[in-house]
Amino acid sequence: MTVRTPVYLDHHATTPVDPRVLDLLARVQRQVFGNPSSANHAFGWSAARLVDRAREQVAALVGGTAREIVFTSGATEADNLALLGVAEAHADRGRHLVATNLEHEAVAGPLRILAERGWGVTSVAADRDGLVAPEDVAAALRPDTVLVSVIAAQNEIGTIQPLARIGRICKEAQVLFHTDAAQAAGRIPIDVAAWGADLLSLSAHKLYGPKGVGALWVRRRDPRVVLKPLLHGGGQERDLRPGTLNVPGIAAFGEACRLAAEELPADAQRLRELRDGLLARLQGELKGVHLNGACEPRLPGNLNVSFAGIRGGRLLGALTTLAVSAGSACASAKSGPSAVLKALGVPDDLAAASLRIGLGRGTTAAEVDYAAARIIAAVTKLRAEEA
Ligand SMILES: *Cc1c(COP(=O)(O)O)cnc(C)c1O
Repeated sequence: MTVRTPVYLDHHATTPVDPRVLDLLARVQRQVFGNPSSANHAFGWSAARLVDRAREQVAALVGGTAREIVFTSGATEADNLALLGVAEAHADRGRHLVATNLEHEAVAGPLRILAERGWGVTSVAADRDGLVAPEDVAAALRPDTVLVSVIAAQNEIGTIQPLARIGRICKEAQVLFHTDAAQAAGRIPIDVAAWGADLLSLSAHKLYGPKGVGALWVRRRDPRVVLKPLLHGGGQERDLRPGTLNVPGIAAFGEACRLAAEELPADAQRLRELRDGLLARLQGELKGVHLNGACEPRLPGNLNVSFAGIRGGRLLGALTTLAVSAGSACASAKSGPSAVLKALGVPDDLAAASLRIGLGRGTTAAEVDYAAARIIAAVTKLRAEEA
């Protein structure tokens, strides 16, 4: 079978908009231009109806209620709102936060700002498999801790944290629990009740929706989470995120969540088989192939592998027909091996010769076969040159 190149295998960086989502996006963009805050005419009402429906659809994907959804410009803003908003609102209770060394920059950035402002921040280290031990989170808690933030599924190595156990620890200690679920959403089931989460961040473009839209889910009961807004203006989103709503983006995000919920079991099963097949073939035909991060629990479409005996940077350069990455997309503009692989104790030479491969909804078996053949050929050639 022929494969169109370049082959997109970077679904942790972003995903293409699902054609069904795109249809809705275009229809709303064309036909529904009203401001959902215009409460006195039909243009506003039809926009508000679309937003209401999307709010239900996004909430349903995570097991929350519509009133708990705050639409934002993406997961970066949701993470910032969760961390800075909770810190600001609870500073009189304590000025200490707990996170992990696997957090995305959208969490690590606000944590750095808070540390500069005098907050204590404890970073819990994951083990060599990229998993955080709940006991370590418990041990990091202090009487003045107000928030724990743990990435649900890691964006480079795909490992899934023991969220329900961490959530229980937070609940017992009466500390709020935030999780960045941008990579988890649509790929594994999310249940805010089972996870014991109080705040949860989402991004539309990681689940086949458009870029520039996301949400923060904020628990309203047991406990009712209080936080301060980042922006100030009109009263939209219960004063937590003022500004005229991105109606087409939000409607599309809702539809993407609806489709994700519907297709998750079948998608996950199919991607897991393709991913496992790809790893088996790489390890079968090449020596010195190291899987970074635990095999399980791991996102079904994620593979992060290092190849011994190749000098840093050369591998990606040899794979021009594959859209894959080394580390996160945000970090790929910078140089040096991935901080996450370093944190796992992966030696620098192996970290520099790593590939993050993210399979997605549109990935075919033929594309995976093609990728396997290209990677095997490139690794074999580079090793021969370096021998
Ligand atoms: C992509 C991503 C973000 C940032 O989301 P945007 O919507 O692009 O701002 C945050 N956290 C994680 C884990 C991500 O994968």
